[in-house]
Amino acid sequence: MIVETFPAGPLGCNCSILVDPATKSAIVVDPGGDFEAIRARIEALGATVKAIVHTHTHVDHVGATAPLQALTGAVASIHEADRFLYELLPVQSAMIGVPTVAKADVEGDLVDGRAVVAGAVELGVLHTPGHTPGSVCFTLQTESGLVVFAGDTLFQRSIGRTDLWGGDGDAILRSIRHKLLTLDDAARVVTGHGPSTTIGAERRTNPFLRAPR
Ligand SMILES: [Zn+2]
Ligand SMILES: [Zn+2]
Repeated sequence: MIVETFPAGPLGCNCSILVDPATKSAIVVDPGGDFEAIRARIEALGATVKAIVHTHTHVDHVGATAPLQALTGAVASIHEADRFLYELLPVQSAMIGVPTVAKADVEGDLVDGRAVVAGAVELGVLHTPGHTPGSVCFTLQTESGLVVFAGDTLFQRSIGRTDLWGGDGDAILRSIRHKLLTLDDAARVVTGHGPSTTIGAERRTNPFLRAPR
């Protein structure tokens, strides 16, 4: 399994490309922007993108979705509870001062417990509302262990903000405790921005997760 993660877009959202080395089938997680850079990576990997998935629909995570879908013809998926935010793309774009991001044709088919499959790449969907109502995390079993793509739900020593549209501070803590901290301590967490971490490290040291509730 090839897992490539790199910052893309105006706020440095971590975009990941997951490739089955045998079939070259691939899934792209959070193409936040910098379409040309993402395209170059896909070409260098020789990957065929079968699916584009999003941890949530804040503009910095969906900025390159439309051109990537046009290039690949792949299905682009969100959680339906984030569709209202996707409809707000012009407002979101203005808020961070970027030209209005083009809209892709997105399916609201990321539901809890579903798997998104491309060749041997099998991405599990966990609905983790809080940062946004339709925030999800993805799990991927690799040869070197479980990888979690946490979007803006969980960061190294921090958690996602909940003061934007539909954010919910109690919900994000419930999501992290019940959906993420139940995973193996060794699981590597690819966060939405900044460095990766592990479930165990966050369980032990994340200041937002200390108080029992
Ligand atoms: Zn966000
Ligand atoms: Zn973000």
